[in-house]
Amino acid sequence: LCCTVVAAADAGGYLKYKDPKQPLGARIRDLMNRMTLQEKIGQMVQIERTVATPDVMKNYFIGSVLSGGGSVPAPKATPEAWVNMVNEIQKAALSTRLGIPMIYGIDAVHGHNNVYGATIFPHNVGLGVTRQVLDPKLLKRIGEATAVEVRATGIPYAFAPCIAVCRDPRWGRCYESYSEDYRIVKEMTEIIPGLQGDLPTERRGVPFVGGKSKVAACAKHFVGDGGTVGGIDENNTVIDSNGLFGIHMPGYYNAVNKGVATVMVSYSALNGLRMHAHKELVTGFLKDKLKFRGFVISDWQGIDRITNPPHLNYSYSLYAGISAGIDMIMVPYNYTEFVDEINSQIKKNLIPMSRIDDAVKRILRVKFTMGLFEEPLADLSFADQLGSKEHRELAREAVRKSLVLLKNGKTGDEPLLPLPKKTGKILVAGSHADNLGYQCGGWTITWQGLDGNDLTIGTTILAAVKNTVAPTTQVVYNQNPDANFVKSGKFDYAIVVVGEPPYAEMYGDSTNLTISEPGPSTIGNVCGSVKCVVVVVSGRPVVMEPYVSTIDALVAAWLPGTEGQGVADALFGDYGFTGKLARTWFKSVNQLPMNVGDQHYDPLYPFGFGLTTQPSKL
Ligand code: BGC
Repeated sequence: LCCTVVAAADAGGYLKYKDPKQPLGARIRDLMNRMTLQEKIGQMVQIERTVATPDVMKNYFIGSVLSGGGSVPAPKATPEAWVNMVNEIQKAALSTRLGIPMIYGIDAVHGHNNVYGATIFPHNVGLGVTRQVLDPKLLKRIGEATAVEVRATGIPYAFAPCIAVCRDPRWGRCYESYSEDYRIVKEMTEIIPGLQGDLPTERRGVPFVGGKSKVAACAKHFVGDGGTVGGIDENNTVIDSNGLFGIHMPGYYNAVNKGVATVMVSYSALNGLRMHAHKELVTGFLKDKLKFRGFVISDWQGIDRITNPPHLNYSYSLYAGISAGIDMIMVPYNYTEFVDEINSQIKKNLIPMSRIDDAVKRILRVKFTMGLFEEPLADLSFADQLGSKEHRELAREAVRKSLVLLKNGKTGDEPLLPLPKKTGKILVAGSHADNLGYQCGGWTITWQGLDGNDLTIGTTILAAVKNTVAPTTQVVYNQNPDANFVKSGKFDYAIVVVGEPPYAEMYGDSTNLTISEPGPSTIGNVCGSVKCVVVVVSGRPVVMEPYVSTIDALVAAWLPGTEGQGVADALFGDYGFTGKLARTWFKSVNQLPMNVGDQHYDPLYPFGFGLTTQPSKL
């Protein structure tokens, strides 16, 4: 099949596609005219960085590389190590005949979460609480900070935001969703102009990435990922068109309007048809109707999973996926199989060249638009912004605004919060009080997240409490105190921090949604004998009804990330609690799924609920 080589004629001469003064369309056309079939196919392939050797990049003309699920060049790799790694791969891409830059992507889903020392923002479940109406600029600022930190490591593309509308908290990805309510999810797409920059004019659907401090974003997972039956990851979503277009699609209208550069397809099925094979929605709706002009990317081995079990019939899956309208395929390892199979299907006229050209055009459009041809290599100019003081301050602010105060004082009692900074003795207890990994959750340094404080730089809630109280106040930490310890300790107050351990994707699917052991006994031992505030660190509402009556104050902190100081800021009244639930807090898992607006709505705390406190005078 290969190749009519045209390069010789241009050797040393003028190349229109390399001329930034040429209009975008002309550059794309010029380059497309020069490309061989193998070069075009290569653009459609995204491989994992561990297989992206210079030879592979060159021999297969690979168009994109990713760090899958926390694949880092080395433990605690510095920005310099990242930049060097990305640049090495880029140099190989640039050394090919046409020198088309590759685009490197990574899951920066709550800050640049794979990178040691980066600012880790609250996961989306917490950000949904902050609401655009309460703070219209917050999400955009978070997007801007994230983009700069991602660029600090030489990377121009983030697989974020996840605009799933999680309708069932049993889903292991519920924390990646801003809300069960599509309106909040829609508003939160304001992170996209933060990541990419503002569309200069109202150019609907045109992918836009404004310069070197911005990154291409990716709205995911198209569509209905948050609606699967039973909240089972990658399962089937059974909905009518009101559910589809009224609940799960609105986020995409906004994302496309804001110029999102890419859209990732969902593993899930819609009424029995895998989204990776859903031509009517991917091509018919997203591309044709919404006029999305960026590229559609598959999920990790997403086309393989069109069949069950995955990879049962790769020829069929590839055919169905490419025909559905997927432009870039996250392969991510078996690139030879992909390239061989797509070649053979093109040869047999199963996949028309027009489909390949559409895919490549879209990919090139994004690459040209974002200036990758002009500045393909990264430098260290943003390195000092990784985990900067300003970004950590912003994350701390986001933490404060993401907290929801669910209870404050037992009936008839004075409110417990804010706690006084100056007091005798405070007990801090619970599995989540001094655990940065738990605070950050999944998608932090590794795919599933980590346990402990060594994973990255940040402030645990325990450390934050110590930072906040008056010097004369004694803070005693005991992860799981017994009742005797509590009684004999004569504490004025206790802060009990419990919740869920980290998880990601299907590993987080849960049918019981309990706080992890020994959380319940810690609450029991502490809250019976001393005035206590329970802080729940979790990716979703969890079963709390059995404990609520013994608890004096209850705070949902979600997965706050590295800046635990934001929790102490509110507990001790430097700032007031303002957050309103963006999810329904159920009483029992037997009620699920239960969402705001449902006919039988009987939650422990309803959607929109949240007590407020005033900042206390210092
Ligand atoms: C997830 C995506 C993610 C991709 C790349 C998949 O397992 O579903 O959200 O972007 O991996 O890491």
